[in-house]
Amino acid sequence: MRPFLTLKLNLYFRTMNDNQLLRYSRHILLDEIGIEGQEKFLAAHALIIGAGGLGSPAALYLASAGVGTITLVDDDVVDLTNLQRQILHTTERIGEAKVLSGQKALSQINPEINIIAINERLQGDRLLELVSQANVVLDCSDNFSTRHAVNHACVRTRVPLVSGAALRFDGQISVFDARHGQGPCYACLFPAQSGYAEVRCAALGVFAPLVGIIGAMQAAEALKLLAGIGAALSGRLLLLDARTMAWSSIALARDPQCRVCGG
Ligand SMILES: [Zn+2]
Repeated sequence: MRPFLTLKLNLYFRTMNDNQLLRYSRHILLDEIGIEGQEKFLAAHALIIGAGGLGSPAALYLASAGVGTITLVDDDVVDLTNLQRQILHTTERIGEAKVLSGQKALSQINPEINIIAINERLQGDRLLELVSQANVVLDCSDNFSTRHAVNHACVRTRVPLVSGAALRFDGQISVFDARHGQGPCYACLFPAQSGYAEVRCAALGVFAPLVGIIGAMQAAEALKLLAGIGAALSGRLLLLDARTMAWSSIALARDPQCRVCGG
């Protein structure tokens, strides 16, 4: 351990063991995180909906960063067509439940955290209960009905939601934080009744690293929310065109008529 790190660590009451201090030392060295922020990660529970293209990098970074409890939810099994972009999974795990494959990958990187695998498509009260137990929710799903159900549960329970999407070469990410009661929710942006065509990446092309970029950003926003660092992507939608690597940012306003968060 380098002297300046040792000095910094000695200033704190040590609640992490030596291995943890080493494992997370590059976070602890950051003024914005430090021991205090790392302990918030260790005490946190992140719920990840979807163990596919976005869920893979998001889960890998949350696990490596030491988020103490990670719940992975997905009802799908690993398929050969997934492996081009869903980096939690391996060729030898084709046919396994994605959440069990993901659990193996995450525990190999960080055996000290608790990884809960739920091999279901959660709805209604089950979803609501699980969301209410989380400190942050990452929507890494690939369909509008799940997105709306997750948003509804997050608004009801006031748990912050990090929402990502990636299709072809187009990515988007935003944070919907119902804790403060001011910002928009996902349904303010994409009303459920608006008849957006249901497109699933199961049927369309996806540029492999695009899900890595957006999924890693979802992990970054989740960690920032957990430690209370910087400014979240709340009230902004970031859009990426990976053909040109051009980013655009759209300011989002709350819809007072929104059927989920309005009134
Ligand atoms: Zn709304």
